[in-house]
Amino acid sequence: IYILGIESSCDDTSASVLRNGKVLSNVVANQEIHTAYGGVVPELASRAHQQNIIPVVQQAIQRANIDKKELKAIAFTRGPGLMGSLLVGTSFAKSLSMGLGIPLIAVNHMQAHILAHFIDEKEQKKPPFPFLCLTISGGHTQIVKVSNYFEMEVLGETMDDAVGEAFDKSAKILGLPYPGGPLIDKYAQLGNPKTYKFTKPKVGDMDFSFSGLKTGILRFIQKNVQQNSNFIEENLNDICASIQHTIVEILMDKLKNSVKITGIKHIAIAGGVSANSEIRKVLKEAEKRRGWSTYIPKFEYTTDNAAMIGITGYLAYLENNFSNINTSATARLKVDSK
Ligand code: ATP
Ligand code: FE
Repeated sequence: IYILGIESSCDDTSASVLRNGKVLSNVVANQEIHTAYGGVVPELASRAHQQNIIPVVQQAIQRANIDKKELKAIAFTRGPGLMGSLLVGTSFAKSLSMGLGIPLIAVNHMQAHILAHFIDEKEQKKPPFPFLCLTISGGHTQIVKVSNYFEMEVLGETMDDAVGEAFDKSAKILGLPYPGGPLIDKYAQLGNPKTYKFTKPKVGDMDFSFSGLKTGILRFIQKNVQQNSNFIEENLNDICASIQHTIVEILMDKLKNSVKITGIKHIAIAGGVSANSEIRKVLKEAEKRRGWSTYIPKFEYTTDNAAMIGITGYLAYLENNFSNINTSATARLKVDSK
C-alpha cells in the first residue's frame, strides 16, 4: 500500500511516500528565510510553503519511483501549527485527493512525532504498548502515555516555554542564529557541562517549566558580560555544555518520576529536540543503569518531516480511519484528540 504524507505545519515543507510503512522517499524543504528574523515569520512561512509544495510532492513521488496513480491515500497534517502554513498543505492534499480519487487521512502532528517510531526501519526498534514518550519539540514538552497507536494520554507538560524554545532562546542570548538548538548541541560537545550551575524549576512531578531557566541564563550572561565583554566568546563551549546539561537533567528528572509513578519502563523520545546528542546518550545509559528499554528515533524522523505523517496515515488506513473533504486545519490540537 502506497501512502503519500504531506507536512506543512511550521517552516518545513515536506512530502514522503511510504510502502507498507517503509519510507521510499522523504523530501524536506527548509525555509532559510526565517534565519534573518531570528524566528519563524508566519506570513513568510505560508508563502514559502505555497512555492515549495508542488516541487516537493513531485520529488517525493519521483524518488519513490512510483506513478501517482498507485497511491492509495493522502495523509496530511491537520494541526497543531501555524494556520497559514497548515492551510497550504491541507488545501493541496484535498485537491490532489479529488484529482486522484483517493481518500484523505487527517493527521495530528503531535501524534505523528510519536508514531515516527513505527516507521519500518532497520535502525529503529518499535516500542511495545504501553510506553511513555517524552515529546520534546519547538512547541511542546510532554510526557505521554501511549496505550495504542491512537490512544494517548498526557501525563505532564510544560507550564510555559517548550524545551526547544529554551534551547533557541538561550542560543539567542548567546548571539547564535535561529534555530540555535543544534548549535548549542554542537558547541556543548567541546565544553565542560559542570562549569556553570543553573537553578532547576520547581513544578509538578511530571510537569515542566523553562521560562525561569531562560531568565536565569539571561541574568547570568548579562552579569558576566558586564565584567568581561568577551565572556561569551571565551567560554562559549562551557556555557553551552552547562545549559544543555541542565536542560537534559530536568528532562531526566521528570522521566524518572514518571517511571516511578506509572511503573512503565519502556521509554521513547520524539520531536525535534530528540535529535540532541546529550539526551540520546543519557537515555542509552539509563538502559544499563536503570533497566529501562529506550527507543530513540532515527535522526531524520526527529525534526519535522512527512515520513512521520505518512506512517501515521498508514496506521490510520489499516484501521479504516479516513477523513473527508470537510476536515479543516486547526492551529490548536491536543495529542489525545482525534
Ligand atoms: P511542534 O512539533 O511542537 O509543533 P516544531 O515542529 O516547530 O514544534 P520540531 O521541528 O519538532 O518543532 O523541533 C524543532 C526544535 O528542535 C527547535 O527548537 C530546535 O532548536 C530543536 N532542535 C533540533 N535539533 C536539536 C539539537 N540537536 N539539540 C537541541 N535542540 C534541537
Ligand atoms: Fe514538530
